[in-house]
Amino acid sequence: MVKRKVSGDNGNVTKSIPVAHQLSDLEISEVRSKLLAWYDANKRDLPWRKQASNPDINQRAYAVWVSEIMLQQTQVATVINYYNKWMKKWPTLQDLASASLEEVNEMWSGLGYYSRGRRLFEGAKKVVDELDGEMPKDADSLLKHLPGVGKYTAGAIASIAYNQCTGLVDGNVIRVLSRLRMIGADSTSQPVIDALWSLANAVVDKERPGDFNQSLMELGATVCTPKSPDCAACPLRNNCKAYAKVEQQRIKNSEKLTSIASEKNAVIDIECLADQCSLCLPDMETYDDSAGVTNYPRKGKKRAPREERTAVCVLCRKTPTDEEFLIRQRPEKGLLAGLWEFPSKLLVGEGESLPYSDVLIEHGVEVLYATKKIRCGEVVHIFSHIHQTYDVEGVIAGDSDIQEDTENRDQARYRWVTRQQFSEAAVSTAMRKVFKAFESATNPKTPSSKDSKLTKLKPKEDKNQKSIASFFKPKTTA
Ligand code: SF4
Repeated sequence: MVKRKVSGDNGNVTKSIPVAHQLSDLEISEVRSKLLAWYDANKRDLPWRKQASNPDINQRAYAVWVSEIMLQQTQVATVINYYNKWMKKWPTLQDLASASLEEVNEMWSGLGYYSRGRRLFEGAKKVVDELDGEMPKDADSLLKHLPGVGKYTAGAIASIAYNQCTGLVDGNVIRVLSRLRMIGADSTSQPVIDALWSLANAVVDKERPGDFNQSLMELGATVCTPKSPDCAACPLRNNCKAYAKVEQQRIKNSEKLTSIASEKNAVIDIECLADQCSLCLPDMETYDDSAGVTNYPRKGKKRAPREERTAVCVLCRKTPTDEEFLIRQRPEKGLLAGLWEFPSKLLVGEGESLPYSDVLIEHGVEVLYATKKIRCGEVVHIFSHIHQTYDVEGVIAGDSDIQEDTENRDQARYRWVTRQQFSEAAVSTAMRKVFKAFESATNPKTPSSKDSKLTKLKPKEDKNQKSIASFFKPKTTA
């Protein structure tokens, strides 16, 4: 295998990767200048970019940290609003450290991957309580001291807030670098990950590392996109091997048509000559001409998410003045930790369904008489590793017809909330979809969520509701 040291003048890159996948010194200097010039002219006006020029170094790092955590797995357009609200409520690390987890979860509600908000909060507390309010000042110590901060986030904070010359690799960078150097092996494999980090560290600009890293990510987000890259508008077109390969193929095809081989169009060598290169497209996978540059990068096959079904009961109690809904807080660990949801029970048997009374019993509740009970259909929500189907049933009952076993359940984890309180509570997007299904089933004029995939299961009202004998203690009025 032909190998040499990765080029670049940063002095911090020692890994060897095959020559064909490297950037020469000249290419590194071209990529830096072209990308920074493009970034200066084209960068989007994003709120965290203004914060990143704050003269207070801790404040700068905090602002970058919040934005980077929110941007993990979430689109920029969605993050902007959350970011602005977050920074308004907790403008400093100290403000965040003095908040409660409940408030943080409420603020994060709808953004998904809830452990991110919790980790940010725990990190802020750690900085304030254990580090005298001083953020760790380089990538290694950020990585070491802050919960939820991985190699990427540490590199982003260090380069953007501290101007430390360190590269970073996220999904956008993987795509751009893989295309630039025709890296077609599984992008989640260790040799590819190592090579991408080596390239990112070699190519990052010494003078403007933060801007350079953002320019690489910006290019991936706006030009070198996953499905429809705009190569004609790309400042790195002349340095891009994936683009060169497509051009070579186009020239070959046109020569075949005209039967004229042009010397001017002589094919330059871009292919890797290394034997069994761990960065090249594997032999058993074919390069798809019609896919062009989107042949790169490639991901190994994802494991299919596991199927789960959960019975959910939206219990509405009518009080003399309002309607309230029972919600309960999930455990502090695991999926959607600490968030609130309607009483639910995981279904184990295939195709199993449960009457609402069985779901409620799990939560220490019995409805003696329901004025209305209605099947609200199924709501599907895809988590990263679970394909969850909620089988939703709505029950409406008078205040005096609901009995709660408050002594034998963890009462602090149960609350009755009005619609308004529900809308402000720390509940997941999935539970908001469930509530919409309930609202549209009980009040057909309510528009159902675009996001929710309701089945064609027609809501049916059960008019033969029978009173159930109570085995709970009578409700106290105290
Ligand atoms: S030329 Fe095309 S494939 Fe290459 S980096 Fe630019 S946008 Fe991406």
